[in-house]
Amino acid sequence: MAQSLDSATRQALTDRIRFYRDLGLTEFYRRPVDPALLAKLAAETVEPEPETAPQLLHPPQAIHSPGAPGPASGTWDSPHSSEDQPIPPRKPFPSAPAISDAVPASDRAAALQLIRDEIGDCTRCALHERRNKLVFGDGSPAARLMFVGEGPGADEDAQGLPFVGKAGQLLNNMISAMGLRREEVYIANVVKCRPPGNRVPEPEEGATCSPFLFRQIDVIRPEVLVALGATAATWLLGARQPLAGLRGRVHAVRGTKLIVTYHPAYLLRDPRQKKEAWADLQIAMKELGLKPPAKG
Ligand code: URA
Repeated sequence: MAQSLDSATRQALTDRIRFYRDLGLTEFYRRPVDPALLAKLAAETVEPEPETAPQLLHPPQAIHSPGAPGPASGTWDSPHSSEDQPIPPRKPFPSAPAISDAVPASDRAAALQLIRDEIGDCTRCALHERRNKLVFGDGSPAARLMFVGEGPGADEDAQGLPFVGKAGQLLNNMISAMGLRREEVYIANVVKCRPPGNRVPEPEEGATCSPFLFRQIDVIRPEVLVALGATAATWLLGARQPLAGLRGRVHAVRGTKLIVTYHPAYLLRDPRQKKEAWADLQIAMKELGLKPPAKG
């Protein structure tokens, strides 16, 4: 007989699975349960488990250079957030346009506006039903660096701008640590409307919305894309892979270099990983020929 979980246990389990997924551990399956063992466990008093972080199965490669200034834990900081990373099934991607079709920098703002106009008051997927504001993207149409997140949260849904909540504050700090201003980069998401409760976008939602992201990328043609978390990495790469295996190297997507790193919301939950995220950002900086600003 199926056992139902009380809401606290269900929430704790959901949080734990999200945490594992943030780490790139995406395959979960249930072992068959022995009813006799279940009955025995139910009869026992169980001590609460101490709140320790799970270990990475495959620790990411240490790629940061020890001398480079990076954000010490707390430098990029902020408290808790409930974002997480989905791993939708693989979908075919539209191909990138030829280099000769590149939009001149002077026309990019207008080209982005055309995409925005085409999206319109979108009702293409169920996410529109609870949306307040559609979050198209923000930043410079001539950006050399573009960040891609998962989807708007509550603050973004209220303001119509990406990454303006707590995760956004951390992203702003990450951008400053790279020696850039937010206005110089471009920021967009895989889906443009908030998934209720900040849940992972459904495959259908990602498949419906991501072509607009690809078109934004094709117009901006950033030199470097940074995927923030597994959802962005999955949709950009068109393949479902654990985040841990994608970090620490340069991928090629739509004629652009792609670096994969942790989602800022995950870094808020586990600030110890900021050092690893900084290592990822340093790869992006190297590709862009940027040096971190001198401390002062
Ligand atoms: N998380 C995201 O993935 N995107 C946002 O815009 C905000 C939070």
